[in-house]
Formats: sequence, structure tokens, C-alpha cells
Amino acid sequence: ELALDFIQEAKKDAAANFLTTLPENEIIAQAKAIDAHPNFQSLLTGVPYLAKDNFATKGIRTTGGSKILENFIPPYNATIIDILNGHQALMAGKASLDELGMGGTGLLSAFGEIYNPYDKKRLIGGSSSGSVYAVSKGYVPFALGTDTGDSIRKPASYTGIVGFKPTYGALSRYGVLPYSPSLDHPGFFTRNVADMAIVADATFQHDAKDFTSQEIPHKDFLKHLGKLPKSTKFGYLKVVQENLDPKLKKAYFDFYQKLSEAGFEVKALDFPKELLDALPSIYMMISFTEAVSTHSNLTGVHFGERVENADYETLMRETRSKCFGPVVKRRFLIGSLNLKKDNQELFMNKAKKVRRLIVEELNKLYNKVNILILPAAPGVAPLIDEAVEYETDHDDSKAFINDVLVLGNLSGMPSITLPFVFENGLPIGINLNAAPKKDRLVLQAAKKVE
Ligand code: GLN
Repeated sequence: ELALDFIQEAKKDAAANFLTTLPENEIIAQAKAIDAHPNFQSLLTGVPYLAKDNFATKGIRTTGGSKILENFIPPYNATIIDILNGHQALMAGKASLDELGMGGTGLLSAFGEIYNPYDKKRLIGGSSSGSVYAVSKGYVPFALGTDTGDSIRKPASYTGIVGFKPTYGALSRYGVLPYSPSLDHPGFFTRNVADMAIVADATFQHDAKDFTSQEIPHKDFLKHLGKLPKSTKFGYLKVVQENLDPKLKKAYFDFYQKLSEAGFEVKALDFPKELLDALPSIYMMISFTEAVSTHSNLTGVHFGERVENADYETLMRETRSKCFGPVVKRRFLIGSLNLKKDNQELFMNKAKKVRRLIVEELNKLYNKVNILILPAAPGVAPLIDEAVEYETDHDDSKAFINDVLVLGNLSGMPSITLPFVFENGLPIGINLNAAPKKDRLVLQAAKKVE
């Protein structure tokens, strides 16, 4: 019944473009199979969810939000999909995304623009836009996303839901279309922290098919959710706090106050501003460059769309010219330039060194506190007309606030966004982080703050 309800709702709201594929027959087949085993015990049995359309689903097309994969039907499932099948969760559709995960607007999918459910004139954020839309609207209780720069945690802020990017390697990346493997993290959206704990309990496991997969100690998230140790120390970055917009600054200040009154220690922490200012550049250098390599197989030769031509060079060039959108092309161009031998030494080696410095600073910080509080976004979802494209150069000393979530991708630390305050009826999220592998702690802290 849940499955049929979802199909109806999805069809009614088809104009919102949040799905690339609604696999009706498969949904009904799954529902029947689940009904045939009524004694199976999992909290996720029969629960419908959406997979961002960069998770491979056997027999169901997987587009990556790109024209080049418009008709690609994978012969296998991503590990996370298999695990969820094992729990009899019901994969109810493929959620649209900014093309190949590159973008943060919801406007860049080859399958139509997606807008903020609170206000159509505003960005929903991305790249996990379709997943965010469906959870925010209440169509499904959870959805899969991926986060390379902030693609789970920022759109969650814009839509008032919970978005969790676990420790790097906690969730298998097998079968997830790669964008930038050293930064890519699968994760989830839910409407509350308890649901997040349930989904994380079901899916955290080592996967031999993913060589960066790692076992996370101290699981049993739901069971321990209410047990945040009283000794937990919270911290925030002074330079971030000082540069927040006045209203948000006050909301955060009040929040620190409340935490202290509840008996938790709250520390103001130093962090070199140069390193924060470098975040967008480091992110662009690493991710665009890795993206060139991970997408070099999208040529029309082995799979995906192709523009026929007897000459392979021309076939590949024309296929790529026709099928990729402008943002993706621009990133490939910059990434290719970075890969030239001279530039590797000039830029890439430096970018990697700065990444290392950032990780070292974060490690130092986690000797002082257990939970790092960051702003999930500088404010409410921006108006589409006023939105500045991510890559546009802007000389603004406060711009780093918008990019601060990238710290989580560079370091692999677990990071969760949850609703914080409303401004004129629009949500703004708060973001909590912990040292890598402390996923349980970050969920406990989120539960406390919720
Ligand atoms: N918005 C960032 C970008 O444009 C992050 C994308 C992501 O995390 N996949 O690349």
C-alpha cells in the first residue's frame, strides 16, 4: 500500500522533476515479494526510499543526471542497494541530481530543474536535489545521497531536513558513480535523527568490493542514541562565528549558551583563516582533476549514449560535446589543465599539501573538543535570481562560510546537518562533526540538539 501511495504521489508531482525514473513494475514486484515474507524482522521492512540516480540499480536505468547515461541500465546493484534489499526496504525511484554530482543548485540535471519546496523562487541546493525534495515533502522517510563537497549537508539545510555524511569508508562506494573518489561520501537524508540512526545501523558494514571501505567501531546507533556522554566537549571556530550574518550569529551564540547551561563545555577554537579561505580552491583543484579521470570512460564507446562515427576520435569528441552540460565541460577543462605535468607540480602537489595541513589542524582541534559545530549554510536558501554560481570568482572575505563543509570531505570526518532555526518561514540548518570513526558520537550529539 505504501508503495502504491508513493507511485500516486510521485505521478501527481511529476512536474517537480525530482525523479529521473519511477520504476512502477519493479516497485510493485518488490512490494509483493515483501508481502510474501510477513515474518521478516527489520525496522526497514516495506519502507520506501529513493536512491540518488548515481547509485547503480540492477535492471533500472541509472543516469547520473546526465544525458550521456540517459539509457544506461546497470547489470548490478551498488552494495548499499543490496544491503537495503536485504532489509526489505523498497527502492521506490531514482532521484534526480545536478549532472554527475557537479553542482549545488538543483538546476543542472539533464532531466529538468528542481526548486525549493518552501519557495519555488529559491534554490533547493544540490547535487542530491531530488532526494532532498522527496524527503522534505514527506514522500519517503529516507533517501540516499552523495556528498563530495557538501551535496548532502547544504541542501538539507535549505529544506529543513537531516542530512548525514558518515566517516569516509563507513558506507560502501561500490556501484556509486564516482565524481572525485578521495572526497566522495555516500550518505542519507531523513526527517529526524532517530530515523538516521536506523538507516545507519542497517547499512554500515565493511565491503570487500570497495578498497577504501572500513569497519566503524561502536555501532548500535539507535540503541545508544540517547546516551551522549555528559563529558562531551563542543567547540566552534572563532573566525567562523565572527563572520556570520548578524541574525545567525546571535542564534549560534544563544545555542552555545544553552549547551553550557545544559552542563556541556563549549570552547571557542582558533583555526587559520588562510586555510579556510583556501577551501574553494583546494576543492576545485582536487575534485575537478579527479573528475577528469573518473569520467574518462564516458566516451560512447563502451556504454552510454554515442554519436556514431567511423572514426573513434570523432565519435568520442562528438558524443562528449553533445551529451555533457556546460558546468561539467568547464570542470573537465580546468581539471585537464591541472593534470598537465607542469601544473601537477605547480598546483596539485600544493593542493595536496594544503589538504594535509587542514587535516592536521582538525586533528589538533579534536584533541580539545569532541564535537565541532559549523554553520550548515550562511543563511536561508538563496533566491535563484541572486544565486552566484559556485565557480564564479568572488572577492569576499566572508565567502569561506559557504564552503566550510568541505572540511568534512577533505578529512573524512562524520558530519551531520539538522534543522536549526527559521528565518521568515525558511529553514536554516546546523552542522555537527566529530573525529573520523566517531559516527556514533555525532549522531548522539545530533539527537541532543534536535
Ligand atoms: N556544490 C559542490 C559542487 O558544486 C559539491 C557537489 C557535491 O558534493 N557533489 O561541486
